[in-house]
Amino acid sequence: MSGSSLVSQMARDARRRLGLSEDIPIRDLFRLLDQKGLRVIRYPFGFRKASALLARYQGEHFIVVDSTRSLGHQVFSVAHEYGHFLLHRDRLAFVCDPSYPDIGSAEVERWANRFAAEFLMPRAALERWLVEHGLANDRVSLFDAVRLQQAIGVSCEAIVYRLAELGLITPDQRLAWVQESPVRLARKLGLQTDLYLPDNAIQVPEEYQVLWVEAYETGQVTFARLQAALKRIGVGAGNLDLQHPVRVEDVT
Ligand SMILES: [Zn+2]
Repeated sequence: MSGSSLVSQMARDARRRLGLSEDIPIRDLFRLLDQKGLRVIRYPFGFRKASALLARYQGEHFIVVDSTRSLGHQVFSVAHEYGHFLLHRDRLAFVCDPSYPDIGSAEVERWANRFAAEFLMPRAALERWLVEHGLANDRVSLFDAVRLQQAIGVSCEAIVYRLAELGLITPDQRLAWVQESPVRLARKLGLQTDLYLPDNAIQVPEEYQVLWVEAYETGQVTFARLQAALKRIGVGAGNLDLQHPVRVEDVT
C-alpha cells in the first residue's frame, strides 16, 4: 500500500472508530474527541510560534489549540494533533504549527497534515455533497467551493487544496482561488463568516475548575494559585463557595 493510501486508510479507520461514515462532514470535532477521552483545550496562546500541541499528563492526552487562529485553522490543527495521537503517541509531546499544503515540513508533520486532510475531507464526503447539489458532472465554481467548505467545516484554503488534490478543480483554479478573500465570498453568498475568524475561546475540560478547587480545599495549593488558575478560564475564585483549608493566611 502506498504512503498516501495508507494514510487515507488510517483516516477511514479513525472515522469508523468514532462512529462516523466517510461521506459526511464532521460536526464539532472538539467535543467529539473530548467525549472519546482525548481532551481538547482551546485557549488564546498570545504567541505565534505554535498553533496547537499534543501532550500527555498523568496518563491522559491533551490537545491544546490556539483560539486566536481562525476557527477553520483550529479544526485543521486539532485533526493534525489527533493524527499524532493515533500514530505517534509514544513521543511525549508535539508542538505544531500545521499548515496545508506544507512543503518543507518534517516528515512526521507532513504525515499529520495528510491525515488531517483525509480525515476531515474524505473524497466520499466531497463527492456526496457535489451529487446532492447537482454538481456531480459539472465544473465546480468558486462559490460552490465556498458552500462546500462551509458544509464540511474547514478553512477555504484547505478545501481548495483538497479539491485540486482530488482532481475536482484545476491547478490554475487552485492558484487563483486561494488569493480570494473567503470573508467577502461568504458574505456575497449570505453565509456565516465564523470559520474565517478567531473566536478567542477559552474552553477547558469541566474537571479543570473542580481539580483546582479540590487542590485548594485540601490545602495543596494556595488561594493565590487557585485564583490565578481560575482567572485563566474567566472564573473569579472570590465568587465561589469555597471550603477554606486550615491554613488560610493568604486568603484575601
Ligand atoms: Zn504536528
